[in-house]
Amino acid sequence: MENRLLVQRPVPGTASRLGLVRGDITRERVDAIVNAANPSLLGGGGVDGAIHRAAGPELDADCRRLHDELGGCPPGQAVVTTAGRLPARHVIHAVGPVWHGGGRGEAATLRSAYRQSLARAREAGDRSVAFPSISTGAYGYPVAEAARVALRAVVEELREAAAGGQPLIDEVRFVLFSDADAAVYRAALDEILPGEGA
Ligand code: ADP
Repeated sequence: MENRLLVQRPVPGTASRLGLVRGDITRERVDAIVNAANPSLLGGGGVDGAIHRAAGPELDADCRRLHDELGGCPPGQAVVTTAGRLPARHVIHAVGPVWHGGGRGEAATLRSAYRQSLARAREAGDRSVAFPSISTGAYGYPVAEAARVALRAVVEELREAAAGGQPLIDEVRFVLFSDADAAVYRAALDEILPGEGA
C-alpha cells in the first residue's frame, strides 16, 4: 500500500509545512527519516526493526560503530547515520522516554528527542524530515499525549529556527502506522495548528 498524505499545513511564522501521512516510514522519499531507537543503537523491534531490515547491513554497521564510539545515545538525544538502501539520505536515531506514568520527566524527554532530531537534520543539510510516533509502541507512551508533545515540539523548533535565521527545513511529516494513530495525530494537529475549514 502506498503512503498517503492525509493533511498538510503551513507552520505560521516559518516557511515550513507540517504534514501527516498514513503508511510505512521506510518508504518515505525525504532527506531524513527518524528512527525510534533504543539507547544501545543496536536495533530492536517496531519501527527500528523495520528500518534496519529495509536499510540493510550498512545501517547495522554504522549503528554498531556509534555504539562502540559513543556508548549509544541517551533518552532525549539523537544521532545521524547513513541510510543504506532506504530512499532517504540519512537516518536520525532518536531515543524517546519509556513511559512510567508521566512523573519522570517523560514529556520533557520526548520533546527533546523531537527537537534534537531537527537540530541533527539541519546540521546534516536535510530539508525534509519524516518522524514516526516516538515512544508510543513498546515504550508505552499514551498516544494522544505523545501526539500533542510531538507536534508542539516540532512547531516550536521550526519557529525558533526561523526566527534565529537557521537553515530551513521545508517539510516535516509524521508517518502514522495505523488509522487509529493517524486519527489521534489529526485531532492533535487541529488543536495545535487549526486549519482553514476542513
Ligand atoms: P518505541 O520503542 O519508541 O515505543 P516502537 O517502534 O515500538 O517505538 O513504536 C513506535 C511507533 O512506530 C508505533 O506507533 C508503531 O506502530 C510505529 N511503527 C512500527 N513500524 C513502523 C513503520 N514501518 N513505519 C512507521 N511507523 C511504524
